[in-house]
Amino acid sequence: VRRLEVGEGQWVWSLEPYGGCELGCTFCPVRQGAGSVEEWVAFEREARPRGRVVSALQAALGPAPGKGPAREPVRGTPASPRRVVLGAGSEPWQPAEERQRLTRALLETLLTLPPVDVQVHTRSSLIARDTDLLRALAQRGRVTVAFSLASLDEKVNRLLEPRAPSALRRLSAAEALARAGLLVGVRLSPVLPATAPEELDGLLARAAQAGARFAELGFFTPGPSERARLLERVGQASPDTALRFRKLLQKAAQATPAHLAALQGAFTRGCETRGLVPLDSQPSLPPAPDVQGTRLPAQLPLFPSH
Ligand code: SF4
Repeated sequence: VRRLEVGEGQWVWSLEPYGGCELGCTFCPVRQGAGSVEEWVAFEREARPRGRVVSALQAALGPAPGKGPAREPVRGTPASPRRVVLGAGSEPWQPAEERQRLTRALLETLLTLPPVDVQVHTRSSLIARDTDLLRALAQRGRVTVAFSLASLDEKVNRLLEPRAPSALRRLSAAEALARAGLLVGVRLSPVLPATAPEELDGLLARAAQAGARFAELGFFTPGPSERARLLERVGQASPDTALRFRKLLQKAAQATPAHLAALQGAFTRGCETRGLVPLDSQPSLPPAPDVQGTRLPAQLPLFPSH
């Protein structure tokens, strides 16, 4: 549980139940700090559960014994904010969570503490398991869930996020949460700059069909030194995919400013057409309905698993 700066003088509590991340994204900003290939590989091999995260959350956000209001986190700082973020560090719903249930324990603990707003970022469909708790939290404060998606093309996804659930499984989870009345959106990131505008629009269409109400766009544009470092690490960690990853990086390097502008335009138009607002304008979002099934008129076909 750590303080995360989110703007000039603003911060939130970031809940990070795991070090490491088994989803193994090659672009992962969290694992960029690895000093060697060995550390880089270890990051995805060991989820490293942080067993004391629940007591740390209680200490940070719970009322001081016999005092009532939330504790001051650090002497001299403002009172604890009433907003927590899940997913700013490693993935909270990575495979280890199926057994460890640390993220679920955090959500259960939040329900015992004074109400907070909860902001979630995830690349995992496992979050749907915790729909009941997220729904209970949404009755006490604002809960937003942003699903990160890079592409609908699973060949691309396997290179960028090798062990993440398929995009369609994530969209299926998004739909389940939206049907439960939760405020759901998508972060289309990292999108390959060589993506066709129609493909990006297709991704937005699927997201909106699943019940997304906000969206954000981020490109995969590593510079020359980052490309070289990634290639070296993927080459050593996963020789089987090195050649395909090299081609993907070459494509990423070929994007022209004009094509990026075309993609940005397609994204803006696609959002307007489907009523999706930017992720950073969440405060202007209407509240999500809290009655199951009121927002989506008909059951969508089941998405296939990967
Ligand atoms: S899911 Fe997130 S934390 Fe995990 S490897 Fe991918 S980008 Fe990194």
